[in-house]
Amino acid sequence: MPQSSSQKAGGGWTVQGLIDARMELHAHCHDCHHSEPLDLERVRDRLGPDAPAMASDLAPKLRCQRCGSSKAGLIYAPRTGAKGWPGRSG
Ligand SMILES: [Zn+2]
Repeated sequence: MPQSSSQKAGGGWTVQGLIDARMELHAHCHDCHHSEPLDLERVRDRLGPDAPAMASDLAPKLRCQRCGSSKAGLIYAPRTGAKGWPGRSG
């Protein structure tokens, strides 16, 4: 069966895709076990909205703020606890 689909086949988050899906990323240091949330909008500013945002793409770019290790892992989680946003509609 020929593969003729032009859609992005599975397995690829982009930075904008994560923002649109309201995903939250937490960086986790394998050396000192420090973890902190990652600011996706800042990542988007740096890498662009279409930059690949899988853990294997982003982790090498991260550096632990506490110990300076580059052995970072990423945890992907849906954003929670945001009920009743006063946000604009439209
Ligand atoms: Zn660390």
